[in-house]
Amino acid sequence: MMIDPYSRVINYVRVSVTDRCDCRCIYCMSEDMTFLPKKDVLTLDELDRLCSTLVRLGTTKLRITGGEPLVRTSIMELFRRLGRHLQSGMLRELTLTTNGTQLSRYADELRSAGVKRINVSLDSLDADKFKAITRWGKLKSVLDGLNAAKSAGLIIKINTVALKGVNDDEHNDLVAWCGEQGFDLAFIEVMPMGDLMGPNRVDQFMPLTLVRSRLAERWTLEDSDYRSGGPARYVHVAETGRRVGFITPLTHNFCESCNRVRVTCTGTMFMCLGQEDSADLRTPLRTSSDDVLLEHAIRNAIARKPKGHDFKIERGRSEVAVGRLMNVTGG
Ligand code: SAM
Ligand code: SF4
Repeated sequence: MMIDPYSRVINYVRVSVTDRCDCRCIYCMSEDMTFLPKKDVLTLDELDRLCSTLVRLGTTKLRITGGEPLVRTSIMELFRRLGRHLQSGMLRELTLTTNGTQLSRYADELRSAGVKRINVSLDSLDADKFKAITRWGKLKSVLDGLNAAKSAGLIIKINTVALKGVNDDEHNDLVAWCGEQGFDLAFIEVMPMGDLMGPNRVDQFMPLTLVRSRLAERWTLEDSDYRSGGPARYVHVAETGRRVGFITPLTHNFCESCNRVRVTCTGTMFMCLGQEDSADLRTPLRTSSDDVLLEHAIRNAIARKPKGHDFKIERGRSEVAVGRLMNVTGG
């Protein structure tokens, strides 16, 4: 087991497999991104070794993310290979976070690899607004992808970034639509990652306490003790029978129950989304063909996991706590 200095069991790892994406969401990327040279990004073999070592050390839940994980060439090969750890019983859950644009193509293969549930990011059900938020995305491809995922038997949770003045008029519609579709829904607060939107980030920041109180005017929200081990708090919506979550890293402290670390597509482990300290896992992967050095580097990293994060966002002022962008750390 991986246990950090604050006695937290670290059994959940989010692994980014690419920094590239077929969208350019306003809060995540700039329009003209420079992506990492391919040689810096872990190969599929290296990703398999890394994930398998993490599983051996006690990881029971692996989330594949990005950038957009499903735009990585031959990504299904990695899912198929990691599926062996589900079969052996070492891994409890293999999942991914996706923008959904490639799900029509991959939903069946994901299900066959052993993926049972997925998170799909969707900030608007209005095609024009969806385009304005994602810059390059097409709503139809995501809706088609969601249908394919449903048909494949995948359980779906929608992630929606709450953006004041952008999608706040749609929050009720999203709750209703998710109810009809049989999806859970989680709202996310915009996080100060990278230096993307300047003062706009503060303008668009919407505390989820406000989202929740507005939803409560229309829906019966019953407290739920469902927990994901992360910064999400859930309610049960009596009218739809579905859960709605509120992911509030900025306004609430969730660190005491943190069970996770993140690894970038270059093999850098971040022990906290909101702190700079990191560990290089690519060097041990590339300098040695057995996993002794890698295991050592992972254990050292977990031993340095900090107690909590330092995000701050206040009215009229945005403090970028961490310089890297979300497509690098994987959200
Ligand atoms: N491309 C995939 C997707 O969009 O789901 C996976 C990677 S994306 C970085 C993971 C999640 O991070 C998405 O739900 C996205 O909305 C969220 N995200 C990106 N930038 C964010 C930010 N600045 N604040 C809050 N959430 C953000
Ligand atoms: Fe791509 Fe996801 Fe970032 Fe949007 S949030 S630009 S879909 S990585």
